[in-house]
Amino acid sequence: MPALSICAVTFCSVCGHTTVSRVPSGDNRLRDCCDHCGAVHYINPRPVVGTIPVWGDQVLLCKRAIEPRLGKWTLPAGFMEINETTGDGARRETLEEAGARVKLGPLFSMIDVPHVQQVHIFFRAELLDTHFAIGTESLEVRLFDQSEIPWDEIAFRTVSTTLELYFADRARGEFGVYTRAIGAAPTARAVSA
Ligand code: ZN
Repeated sequence: MPALSICAVTFCSVCGHTTVSRVPSGDNRLRDCCDHCGAVHYINPRPVVGTIPVWGDQVLLCKRAIEPRLGKWTLPAGFMEINETTGDGARRETLEEAGARVKLGPLFSMIDVPHVQQVHIFFRAELLDTHFAIGTESLEVRLFDQSEIPWDEIAFRTVSTTLELYFADRARGEFGVYTRAIGAAPTARAVSA
């Protein structure tokens, strides 16, 4: 069976030559390889970290000011940075996108999104005050009662799934930790055994 390739790294970031997609010696997957300098350009999933910020019975959501899903509502979340923990990243994103300071709670959901090479991780969190503000990546930031949640206007399935799990747990008075997967795993870079 012929192996398919997504040529994600076209030019070598080390020497600038064109890369070729092949399975390096001792490996079992297609990689973007530079035959000029020998560099192998690995591409690995990226963690997205965020919070479920609550104030009493209300949950804080942000209306996105950027693509993708501009104008849709989301929990504050974003790509984890180098040299920070998942919790630090979740707290930082909540401050950047919603101007909100939180007391970070336990891990709540970890949702694999293999077709976009991401894993989305959400922590429960309590707002320290209601002095939140609109961040540069948000058009609007506000608290929602459960009955007000704009389910048809939620930006990402990881967010709607997390909110559904959160409200279900809150209704039964006990919070769990959840793992889920959304979408199909890609086969393009896989090599049949
Ligand atoms: Zn190179």
